[in-house]
Amino acid sequence: RKSWIDKLKAGLRKTGASIATVFTGTQIDDALYEDLEAALLMADTGVKATEHLLQDLKRRVKDSKTTDPAAVKGLLVESLTSLLTPLQKPLLIGRFKPTVIMVAGVNGAGKTTSIGKLTRHLATSNASVLLAAADTFRAAAREQLGVWADRTAVDIISQDGGDPAAVAFDAVSAGKARGRDVVLVDTAGRLPTQLHLMEELKKIKRVVQKTGPCNDNANLSSSTEASSLPPHEVLLVIDGNTGQNALTQVKAFDDALGLTGLIVTKLDGTAKGGVLAAIARERPIPVYFIGVGEKLEDLETFNAREFSQALLS
Ligand code: GDP
Repeated sequence: RKSWIDKLKAGLRKTGASIATVFTGTQIDDALYEDLEAALLMADTGVKATEHLLQDLKRRVKDSKTTDPAAVKGLLVESLTSLLTPLQKPLLIGRFKPTVIMVAGVNGAGKTTSIGKLTRHLATSNASVLLAAADTFRAAAREQLGVWADRTAVDIISQDGGDPAAVAFDAVSAGKARGRDVVLVDTAGRLPTQLHLMEELKKIKRVVQKTGPCNDNANLSSSTEASSLPPHEVLLVIDGNTGQNALTQVKAFDDALGLTGLIVTKLDGTAKGGVLAAIARERPIPVYFIGVGEKLEDLETFNAREFSQALLS
Protein backbone atom coordinates (compact mmCIF):
# COMPACT_ATOMS: atom_id res chain seq x y z
CA ARG A 1 0.00 0.00 0.00
CA LYS A 2 1.22 3.43 -0.96
CA SER A 3 2.05 5.45 2.12
CA TRP A 4 -0.21 8.38 2.89
CA ILE A 5 2.59 10.85 2.37
CA ASP A 6 3.04 9.49 -1.16
CA LYS A 7 -0.67 9.92 -1.81
CA LEU A 8 -0.52 13.43 -0.43
CA LYS A 9 2.51 14.21 -2.56
CA ALA A 10 0.86 12.77 -5.66
CA GLY A 11 -2.15 14.99 -5.08
CA LEU A 12 -0.23 18.11 -4.25
CA ARG A 13 2.25 17.63 -7.06
CA LYS A 14 -0.30 18.91 -9.55
CA THR A 15 -0.25 22.33 -7.94
CA GLY A 16 3.05 22.02 -6.12
CA ALA A 17 4.99 21.22 -9.29
CA SER A 18 4.38 24.68 -10.65
CA ILE A 19 5.60 26.17 -7.39
CA ALA A 20 8.74 24.02 -7.43
CA THR A 21 9.65 25.05 -11.02
CA VAL A 22 9.97 28.63 -9.84
CA PHE A 23 13.25 27.67 -8.16
CA THR A 24 14.97 26.08 -11.16
CA GLY A 25 16.50 29.36 -12.42
CA THR A 26 20.00 30.67 -11.70
CA GLN A 27 19.30 33.77 -9.65
CA ILE A 28 17.09 35.20 -6.95
CA ASP A 29 15.46 38.24 -8.55
CA ASP A 30 12.13 40.01 -8.95
CA ALA A 31 11.14 37.60 -11.70
CA LEU A 32 11.50 34.68 -9.29
CA TYR A 33 9.25 36.33 -6.72
CA GLU A 34 6.72 37.27 -9.41
CA ASP A 35 6.61 33.71 -10.68
CA LEU A 36 6.27 32.46 -7.14
CA GLU A 37 3.42 34.85 -6.46
CA ALA A 38 1.58 33.59 -9.54
CA ALA A 39 2.21 29.96 -8.63
CA LEU A 40 0.96 30.45 -5.06
CA LEU A 41 -2.17 32.20 -6.29
CA MET A 42 -2.78 29.37 -8.77
CA ALA A 43 -2.54 26.88 -5.90
CA ASP A 44 -5.39 28.83 -4.26
CA THR A 45 -3.26 30.31 -1.53
CA GLY A 46 -5.26 33.52 -1.78
CA VAL A 47 -4.01 37.09 -1.88
CA LYS A 48 -3.50 37.61 1.85
CA ALA A 49 -1.59 34.40 2.56
CA THR A 50 0.45 34.84 -0.63
CA GLU A 51 1.51 38.34 0.44
CA HIS A 52 2.33 37.10 3.91
CA LEU A 53 4.39 34.18 2.59
CA LEU A 54 6.34 36.35 0.13
CA GLN A 55 7.22 38.87 2.84
CA ASP A 56 8.24 36.18 5.29
CA LEU A 57 10.27 34.40 2.60
CA LYS A 58 12.11 37.57 1.52
CA ARG A 59 13.11 38.18 5.13
CA ARG A 60 14.41 34.63 5.46
CA VAL A 61 16.33 34.92 2.18
CA LYS A 62 17.91 38.18 3.32
CA ASP A 63 18.85 36.74 6.71
CA SER A 64 20.38 33.66 5.15
CA LYS A 65 22.36 35.69 2.58
CA THR A 66 21.88 32.85 0.08
CA THR A 67 22.18 33.46 -3.68
CA ASP A 68 20.96 30.01 -4.67
CA PRO A 69 17.32 29.75 -5.88
CA ALA A 70 17.23 26.09 -4.79
CA ALA A 71 17.88 27.21 -1.21
CA VAL A 72 14.91 29.59 -1.46
CA LYS A 73 12.67 26.58 -1.89
CA GLY A 74 13.87 25.23 1.44
CA LEU A 75 13.19 28.60 3.04
CA LEU A 76 9.68 28.62 1.57
CA VAL A 77 9.08 25.28 3.32
CA GLU A 78 10.03 27.08 6.55
CA SER A 79 7.70 30.03 5.82
CA LEU A 80 4.82 27.72 4.98
CA THR A 81 5.47 25.49 7.99
CA SER A 82 5.40 28.43 10.38
CA LEU A 83 2.20 29.74 8.80
CA LEU A 84 0.50 26.32 9.01
CA THR A 85 1.73 25.22 12.44
CA PRO A 86 -1.15 26.90 14.34
CA LEU A 87 -3.53 24.61 12.42
CA GLN A 88 -1.79 21.51 13.74
CA LYS A 89 -3.79 20.39 16.75
CA PRO A 90 -5.02 16.97 17.83
CA LEU A 91 -8.68 16.16 18.37
CA LEU A 92 -8.86 15.33 22.09
CA ILE A 93 -11.63 13.10 23.33
CA GLY A 94 -10.59 12.24 26.88
CA ARG A 95 -12.07 15.10 28.82
CA PHE A 96 -15.82 14.81 28.45
CA LYS A 97 -17.85 11.65 28.63
CA PRO A 98 -19.30 11.49 26.17
CA THR A 99 -17.39 13.88 23.95
CA VAL A 100 -20.01 15.08 21.51
CA ILE A 101 -18.73 15.87 18.03
CA MET A 102 -21.05 17.50 15.53
CA VAL A 103 -19.97 17.15 11.91
CA ALA A 104 -21.11 19.47 9.12
CA GLY A 105 -20.21 19.84 5.46
CA VAL A 106 -21.84 20.49 2.11
CA ASN A 107 -22.82 17.52 -0.03
CA GLY A 108 -19.95 15.96 -1.87
CA ALA A 109 -17.30 17.34 0.49
CA GLY A 110 -16.64 13.83 1.78
CA LYS A 111 -18.58 14.09 5.04
CA THR A 112 -20.04 10.58 5.04
CA THR A 113 -16.70 9.05 4.15
CA SER A 114 -14.94 11.15 6.78
CA ILE A 115 -17.41 10.13 9.48
CA GLY A 116 -16.72 6.50 8.60
CA LYS A 117 -12.99 7.13 8.78
CA LEU A 118 -13.31 9.03 12.05
CA THR A 119 -15.46 6.29 13.56
CA ARG A 120 -12.86 3.72 12.60
CA HIS A 121 -10.06 5.92 13.93
CA LEU A 122 -11.81 6.35 17.28
CA ALA A 123 -12.86 2.73 17.53
CA THR A 124 -9.34 1.51 16.82
CA SER A 125 -8.07 3.73 19.62
CA ASN A 126 -10.56 1.91 21.87
CA ALA A 127 -13.09 4.70 22.21
CA SER A 128 -16.71 3.56 22.28
CA VAL A 129 -18.68 5.47 19.68
CA LEU A 130 -22.33 6.18 19.12
CA LEU A 131 -23.34 7.58 15.79
CA ALA A 132 -26.28 9.88 15.28
CA ALA A 133 -27.34 9.55 11.67
CA ALA A 134 -29.84 11.82 10.05
CA ASP A 135 -31.61 10.09 7.16
CA THR A 136 -29.08 11.46 4.72
CA PHE A 137 -26.65 8.55 4.72
CA ARG A 138 -26.16 6.83 1.43
CA ALA A 139 -26.96 3.11 1.66
CA ALA A 140 -23.38 2.12 0.87
CA ALA A 141 -21.98 4.32 3.57
CA ARG A 142 -24.46 3.01 6.13
CA GLU A 143 -23.53 -0.55 5.17
CA GLN A 144 -19.88 0.27 5.53
CA LEU A 145 -20.50 1.74 8.95
CA GLY A 146 -22.69 -1.24 9.78
CA VAL A 147 -19.73 -3.55 9.23
CA TRP A 148 -17.78 -1.46 11.70
CA ALA A 149 -20.69 -1.35 14.08
CA ASP A 150 -20.61 -5.16 14.19
CA ARG A 151 -16.91 -5.31 14.89
CA THR A 152 -16.59 -2.44 17.31
CA ALA A 153 -18.66 -0.71 19.93
CA VAL A 154 -20.45 1.47 17.42
CA ASP A 155 -24.21 1.92 17.50
CA ILE A 156 -26.09 3.95 14.97
CA ILE A 157 -29.15 5.92 15.93
CA SER A 158 -31.20 7.00 12.97
CA GLN A 159 -34.78 7.73 12.13
CA ASP A 160 -36.28 7.87 8.68
CA GLY A 161 -37.70 11.26 7.88
CA GLY A 162 -37.50 12.46 11.48
CA ASP A 163 -36.42 15.85 12.74
CA PRO A 164 -32.61 15.84 12.61
CA ALA A 165 -32.40 17.83 15.85
CA ALA A 166 -34.60 15.23 17.58
CA VAL A 167 -32.37 12.41 16.30
CA ALA A 168 -29.34 14.28 17.62
CA PHE A 169 -31.00 14.85 21.00
CA ASP A 170 -31.92 11.17 21.33
CA ALA A 171 -28.46 10.07 20.31
CA VAL A 172 -26.65 12.33 22.77
CA SER A 173 -29.02 11.27 25.55
CA ALA A 174 -28.42 7.62 24.64
CA GLY A 175 -24.68 8.21 24.54
CA LYS A 176 -24.84 9.55 28.09
CA ALA A 177 -27.06 6.71 29.32
CA ARG A 178 -24.85 4.07 27.73
CA GLY A 179 -21.62 5.64 28.96
CA ARG A 180 -20.12 6.08 25.52
CA ASP A 181 -16.84 7.90 25.03
CA VAL A 182 -17.90 9.70 21.87
CA VAL A 183 -21.14 10.64 20.16
CA LEU A 184 -20.69 11.62 16.52
CA VAL A 185 -23.56 13.69 15.17
CA ASP A 186 -23.87 13.66 11.41
CA THR A 187 -25.82 16.51 9.86
CA ALA A 188 -27.47 17.09 6.51
CA GLY A 189 -25.34 18.52 3.73
CA ARG A 190 -27.96 20.07 1.57
CA LEU A 191 -31.27 21.81 2.13
CA PRO A 192 -33.30 24.03 -0.21
CA THR A 193 -31.23 27.11 0.56
CA GLN A 194 -28.01 27.76 2.39
CA LEU A 195 -29.92 29.84 4.88
CA HIS A 196 -32.10 26.82 5.70
CA LEU A 197 -29.03 24.68 6.16
CA MET A 198 -27.43 27.08 8.61
CA GLU A 199 -30.67 27.48 10.55
CA GLU A 200 -31.08 23.72 10.82
CA LEU A 201 -27.49 23.26 11.96
CA LYS A 202 -27.87 25.98 14.56
CA LYS A 203 -31.02 24.27 15.78
CA ILE A 204 -29.23 20.93 16.09
CA LYS A 205 -26.51 22.61 18.12
CA ARG A 206 -29.04 24.32 20.40
CA VAL A 207 -31.04 21.15 20.93
CA VAL A 208 -27.92 19.09 21.67
CA GLN A 209 -26.95 21.67 24.31
CA LYS A 210 -30.33 21.08 25.95
CA THR A 211 -29.31 17.53 26.86
CA GLY A 212 -27.25 19.22 29.59
CA PRO A 213 -23.61 19.00 30.71
CA CYS A 214 -21.53 15.89 30.15
CA ASN A 215 -19.19 14.38 32.75
CA ASP A 216 -16.03 16.45 32.92
CA ASN A 217 -12.99 14.33 33.76
CA ALA A 218 -10.86 17.42 34.23
CA ASN A 219 -13.09 18.63 37.09
CA LEU A 220 -11.86 22.14 36.61
CA SER A 221 -13.04 25.45 38.01
CA SER A 222 -16.30 27.35 37.89
CA SER A 223 -16.64 27.63 34.12
CA THR A 224 -16.76 23.84 33.88
CA GLU A 225 -20.50 23.56 33.55
CA ALA A 226 -20.74 25.78 30.47
CA SER A 227 -17.80 24.15 28.73
CA SER A 228 -19.09 20.67 29.46
CA LEU A 229 -22.28 21.36 27.53
CA PRO A 230 -22.33 19.41 24.26
CA PRO A 231 -21.40 19.65 21.45
CA HIS A 232 -17.75 19.89 22.50
CA GLU A 233 -16.53 19.91 18.96
CA VAL A 234 -18.12 21.29 15.80
CA LEU A 235 -16.24 20.04 12.76
CA LEU A 236 -16.54 21.08 9.15
CA VAL A 237 -15.55 18.72 6.36
CA ILE A 238 -14.21 20.57 3.32
CA ASP A 239 -13.09 19.33 -0.07
CA GLY A 240 -9.43 20.27 -0.51
CA ASN A 241 -10.03 20.41 -4.26
CA THR A 242 -12.38 23.33 -4.05
CA GLY A 243 -9.73 25.87 -3.15
CA GLN A 244 -10.99 29.33 -2.29
CA ASN A 245 -14.55 28.02 -2.23
CA ALA A 246 -13.55 25.88 0.75
CA LEU A 247 -12.36 29.02 2.55
CA THR A 248 -15.73 30.65 1.88
CA GLN A 249 -17.44 27.62 3.42
CA VAL A 250 -15.18 27.72 6.47
CA LYS A 251 -16.08 31.36 7.08
CA ALA A 252 -19.82 30.84 6.58
CA PHE A 253 -20.05 27.75 8.84
CA ASP A 254 -17.79 29.31 11.45
CA ASP A 255 -19.90 32.47 11.56
CA ALA A 256 -23.05 30.40 12.00
CA LEU A 257 -21.85 27.61 14.29
CA GLY A 258 -18.48 28.44 15.78
CA LEU A 259 -16.24 25.73 14.35
CA THR A 260 -13.65 23.99 16.51
CA GLY A 261 -11.94 21.96 13.80
CA LEU A 262 -11.71 20.97 10.15
CA ILE A 263 -11.30 17.80 8.15
CA VAL A 264 -9.80 18.56 4.74
CA THR A 265 -10.55 15.78 2.26
CA LYS A 266 -9.27 14.68 -1.14
CA LEU A 267 -5.75 15.95 -0.71
CA ASP A 268 -4.72 12.87 -2.70
CA GLY A 269 -6.56 14.27 -5.73
CA THR A 270 -6.01 17.38 -7.77
CA ALA A 271 -5.64 19.30 -4.56
CA LYS A 272 -5.36 23.03 -4.42
CA GLY A 273 -3.22 22.62 -1.35
CA GLY A 274 -2.59 26.33 -0.96
CA VAL A 275 -6.05 26.74 0.53
CA LEU A 276 -4.67 25.58 3.88
CA ALA A 277 -2.38 28.61 3.88
CA ALA A 278 -5.38 30.81 3.13
CA ILE A 279 -7.28 29.24 6.02
CA ALA A 280 -4.28 29.70 8.33
CA ARG A 281 -4.14 33.38 7.44
CA GLU A 282 -7.82 34.24 7.33
CA ARG A 283 -9.64 31.81 9.62
CA PRO A 284 -7.16 29.70 11.59
CA ILE A 285 -9.25 26.75 12.70
CA PRO A 286 -7.38 23.55 13.60
CA VAL A 287 -7.15 20.90 10.91
CA TYR A 288 -7.69 17.76 12.94
CA PHE A 289 -7.45 15.39 10.00
CA ILE A 290 -6.78 15.24 6.29
CA GLY A 291 -8.35 12.76 3.86
CA VAL A 292 -5.94 11.12 1.45
CA GLY A 293 -8.12 8.51 -0.25
CA GLU A 294 -11.50 6.83 -0.39
CA LYS A 295 -10.78 3.96 1.99
CA LEU A 296 -11.65 4.02 5.68
CA GLU A 297 -8.00 4.00 6.68
CA ASP A 298 -7.17 7.02 4.49
CA LEU A 299 -7.40 9.53 7.32
CA GLU A 300 -4.29 11.19 8.71
CA THR A 301 -3.52 13.77 11.33
CA PHE A 302 -2.31 17.04 9.87
CA ASN A 303 1.36 17.87 10.18
CA ALA A 304 2.41 21.36 9.04
CA ARG A 305 5.97 20.48 8.11
CA GLU A 306 5.16 17.26 6.28
CA PHE A 307 2.41 19.03 4.39
CA SER A 308 4.69 21.92 3.41
CA GLN A 309 7.42 19.54 2.28
CA ALA A 310 4.92 17.49 0.28
CA LEU A 311 3.48 20.59 -1.37
CA LEU A 312 6.90 21.72 -2.55
CA SER A 313 8.46 18.35 -3.35
P1 GDP B 1 -20.75 13.70 1.33
O1 GDP B 1 -21.78 14.00 0.30
O2 GDP B 1 -20.11 14.94 1.86
O3 GDP B 1 -21.20 12.79 2.40
O4 GDP B 1 -19.54 13.01 0.53
P2 GDP B 1 -19.12 11.48 0.43
O5 GDP B 1 -18.53 11.03 1.71
O6 GDP B 1 -20.23 10.71 -0.13
O7 GDP B 1 -17.91 11.61 -0.60
C1 GDP B 1 -18.08 12.09 -1.91
C2 GDP B 1 -17.06 11.41 -2.80
O8 GDP B 1 -15.76 11.80 -2.43
C3 GDP B 1 -17.09 9.90 -2.70
O9 GDP B 1 -16.89 9.36 -3.98
C4 GDP B 1 -15.90 9.59 -1.79
O10 GDP B 1 -15.36 8.31 -2.03
C5 GDP B 1 -14.95 10.68 -2.18
N1 GDP B 1 -13.99 11.00 -1.11
C6 GDP B 1 -14.23 11.36 0.16
N2 GDP B 1 -13.09 11.63 0.83
C7 GDP B 1 -12.08 11.42 -0.05
C8 GDP B 1 -10.64 11.54 0.01
O11 GDP B 1 -10.02 11.91 1.03
N3 GDP B 1 -9.96 11.25 -1.12
C9 GDP B 1 -10.59 10.86 -2.28
N4 GDP B 1 -9.83 10.61 -3.35
N5 GDP B 1 -11.91 10.78 -2.38
C10 GDP B 1 -12.65 11.03 -1.29
